[in-house]
Amino acid sequence: MSEPLSPDATVVVVGASLAGLRAAEEIRHEGHAGPVVIVGDERHAPYDRPPLSKQLLAGTWDVERIHHHAPDKLDTLGLEFRLGHRAASLDTDARSIQFDDGSSLHYDGLIVATGASARSLPGTEGMPTVRSLRTLDDCLGIRADLEAAGEGARVVVIGAGFIGSEVAATCHGLGAVVTVVEALPTPLSRVLGDQMGEACAQLHRAQGVTLRTGVGVDRLTSDQGSDTPVVVHLADGTAVDADLVVVGIGVTPSVGWLDGSGLTLDNGVVCSEHLFAADQVVAAGDVARWTHPTLGEQLRVEHWTNAAEGGAAAARNLLAGSAAAVPYSPIPFFWSDQYKTKIQVIGLPGQDDEVVVVEGSVEEGKLVALYRREDRLRAVLAFSQPRHLMAYRPLLAAGASFDEALALSRS
Ligand code: FAD
Ligand code: NAP
Repeated sequence: MSEPLSPDATVVVVGASLAGLRAAEEIRHEGHAGPVVIVGDERHAPYDRPPLSKQLLAGTWDVERIHHHAPDKLDTLGLEFRLGHRAASLDTDARSIQFDDGSSLHYDGLIVATGASARSLPGTEGMPTVRSLRTLDDCLGIRADLEAAGEGARVVVIGAGFIGSEVAATCHGLGAVVTVVEALPTPLSRVLGDQMGEACAQLHRAQGVTLRTGVGVDRLTSDQGSDTPVVVHLADGTAVDADLVVVGIGVTPSVGWLDGSGLTLDNGVVCSEHLFAADQVVAAGDVARWTHPTLGEQLRVEHWTNAAEGGAAAARNLLAGSAAAVPYSPIPFFWSDQYKTKIQVIGLPGQDDEVVVVEGSVEEGKLVALYRREDRLRAVLAFSQPRHLMAYRPLLAAGASFDEALALSRS
């Protein structure tokens, strides 16, 4: 049973990114006057990650533009930031967090918002131009490599998920010669299914980007002094030369510091439908796995809107206490910008759902597709059709039938 927080209670947020910042802001918006401390292991003030694969990587935005707030706005919220500090362990009995520098911090209420970190490809440690993309520093490193390689840089992207697809599009826009390697039959097929995955494949092919699907990576070799700094050897015996390799093969939830804390850790921090992970402890964002009350599934969502909405929802529930808490029941939403196409998805598409394109086509550069599971509408995907997509939101909120969605598409 989590008690409501008293007005002078100390709230500690671990993770100084989107979910953590939105949680801290919400604590203040709800009128809480006690100390709010945000701890993060990155040395930068909170910044937005989506531009790291898009505008910042492309060079159309500078670093200042990706920060969530100007420093004076952060000051007005009365938040205490402890940046460059890594939480090492949690003692829920003593309500205390220990840091890697030996210091500790007491909390009355704790918000876990430590997100996720990029998976690396085994055997590539120490290869200078083999990079992942999760942080601002990662993005600046990739930009520097691209500039050093010059016009026509050979970029190999491993993994055609979100990172891979967006990095391929942005690097192509910068004049690089891009090859994408993906073991599955299409890009993004685990998220969007094969039919819409193939539609995404056509976005790459239409730009002349080489897509090698259905083939895994065997190993990478590196000779930084040579004309070909990295060679990517594929499982079919072929090889691709690269100046720079970007690895986008998914993430791991950042829960190592919670080992032994008593919190349930299983592909993230397991939470109730109110985002409680333990008494006086909530979790939000990429790290949190919770039971969605209306979809009835345990979810861990790795998208921006969930981190923003979940951070705020977790904060309100922490203040209110478990008896007055409200279940966290969002309609999932995400977007991805690839070349000139804005891909947007609302709802929860499944890899095996039936997909019906109700408007447009890939060739037209605009489409709307409905995802059906049994007789229900599960999700809607759009290529560059934001208004049409949002028209289906009320149907998803109401748990509408697929026939109702088809009727809307014809109206
Ligand atoms: P994170 O952003 O991962 O932040 C967690 C923070 O906690 C990090 O700063 C981390 O260093 C810190 N931390 C971890 N462990 C500790 C510790 N022990 N002690 C202290 N601090 C710790 N989503 C979309 O919907 N659309 C997009 O277009 C999109 N583009 C993206 C592009 C990129 C390149 C990336 C990487 C992500 C993108 N996303 C996008 C996903 C979205 O950015 C994430 O879902 C969101 O950042 C999750 O926020 P979070 O606060 O939960 O976690
Ligand atoms: P991702 O979307 O999970 O995609 C990873 C891809 O790499 C999958 O297709 C995966 O296939 C493949 N893969 C895994 N291991 C591989 C290997 N050894 N060799 C080759 N391919 C391999 O993860 P991501 O693209 O790395 O993105 C990281 C995080 O950032 C995610 O949380 C993502 O949601 C977020 N992000 C979101 C957006 C957005 O919403 N627009 C944009 C950028 C980043 P399998 O499924 O078979 O493992």
